[in-house]
Formats: sequence, structure tokens, C-alpha cells
Amino acid sequence: MKFNVLTLFPEMINNAMSESIIGRAITNELISVNAINIRDFSKNKHMKVDDYPYGGGAGMLMQVQPVVDAYNSIESVKNGKKPRVIYLTPWGNTFNQDMAKEFAKEDELVFLCGHYEGIDERALDMIVTDFVSIGDYVLTGGELPAMVMIDAISRLVGGVLNNETSAEFESFNNNLLEHPQYSRPEEYDGLKVPQVLLSGHHGNIEKWRLEQSVERTKKYRPDLYEKYLKNTCNK
Ligand code: SAM
Repeated sequence: MKFNVLTLFPEMINNAMSESIIGRAITNELISVNAINIRDFSKNKHMKVDDYPYGGGAGMLMQVQPVVDAYNSIESVKNGKKPRVIYLTPWGNTFNQDMAKEFAKEDELVFLCGHYEGIDERALDMIVTDFVSIGDYVLTGGELPAMVMIDAISRLVGGVLNNETSAEFESFNNNLLEHPQYSRPEEYDGLKVPQVLLSGHHGNIEKWRLEQSVERTKKYRPDLYEKYLKNTCNK
């Protein structure tokens, strides 16, 4: 799976994506992350990429030309392909696990990171296929949101996680949150691991985990719990 990131801060992407599970997935060539510096495509003698918005208003906007030229420099685009282009924006559809699963089916994705007040609308009209937010708050740039999405999508690419099944039984599958988990020691500061987990009885352990997942979802995400109930009733 190939991720292209159109950004004014490629080092942010390169540095953060070289660590841990994602870094290992890149080394093992399961995924690749190609950060493209939009500034390299500026035609301004001072390499400027932003200007004032027409009609007035606060802040600066990223200009259309460097963004579109950066997109056109992507190898597959040059070869006539049209990978999905995701613009990270607070007004997009809120990212979730189902979207991560859908994007994980693609071979290649392009992320467009805005900065300042955002990007000239014509660039969005010309190249963007999906508008995605990572939550109802405003960040300074699209780089962190792009990395959040790349991380979540990469975990679903075959071979990226050591344990193939671990993504399958996590939070948000089946509209349930994950059950509590424990590791050694059996007792810490008077707090004991639930007896059922030490029993070796797989049926009881599965039953306990499901009950805990349901309770946790009901408490922390009543919206998901409603969906879970609806789906369970329909089965
Ligand atoms: N003026 C814009 C607005 O009101 O929608 C906000 C611009 S924000 C300061 C700069 C850039 O950060 C955006 O173009 C976008 O790429 C990114 N960004 C900020 N918050 C985000 C969020 N919640 N999700 C995704 N991207 C975000």
C-alpha cells in the first residue's frame, strides 16, 4: 500500500512515520510513505505558497498552482491513474474504523494537508475525492490528521501487525469497545486479575469478555451501544 502526502512539512511525516510498527512496516516494504513538499512546486522567486484570500478575512490561503502541480508529480498520476485524494479538513466526514477499513482496500492513497486558513477551493475541486476530519476541533495543519489516518489504515494491511487476528477483535468491531485486559503479576497493590481469566476455561473467558465489552460500550459510548443492540436484534 502506498501513501503519498502532499504537505509543506515533509519532515514531520518522515520523522514520525519511521518509528515502531509503522516504521517496521515501511522497512519490510508492506507500506510506503512518500512525503511530497508542496513548496518545491512554487513558481514564486521566494518559494511562497500562500496569499491573501479574495474578499478579505483573516489569515493566508495555500495557493492552487503549487498544490495541483505537487499532485501531478505523483508517479501514478503521471501514468494516468487517479488514486483517491483525501483532503484533511475540520469540515469533512469524521474519520472512523469503518472508513479505515474502506481505505485499506486501496493500493494507493494521496493525503492533502492544509495549513494556515486552508487551501484555495479550486485545488480541492480539481483533485480531491474525499473530505475527512479527525474530530470537531481545529488543528494548525493536516499533517497530524494524515498520520492518524495512515496509522489506522496501515494496521489493517496484511502483515503489518504481528498477530493477524489482533485488529479483528479490537474496539469498534461489531459496534463494541474492547474488554478490559490484564498481564502479570496476578496481584498488584491489592488489585487482583479477575479469577475467570486465570481459570483456563475458554468458554467462560469469552462470555466474560463479551459482557465486559457490552458494559463498557454502554457506559462510554451509548451511541455505539444503540447500534450494537439494533444489530443484535436483527440477527
Ligand atoms: N479555516 C479552516 C476552517 O475553519 O475550516 C481551518 C484551517 S486549519 C487552521 C489548517 C489546516 O489544518 C486545514 O486546512 C486542515 O488541513 C487541517 N486541520 C485542522 N483541523 C483539522 C481536523 N479536525 N481534521 C482534519 N484536518 C484538520
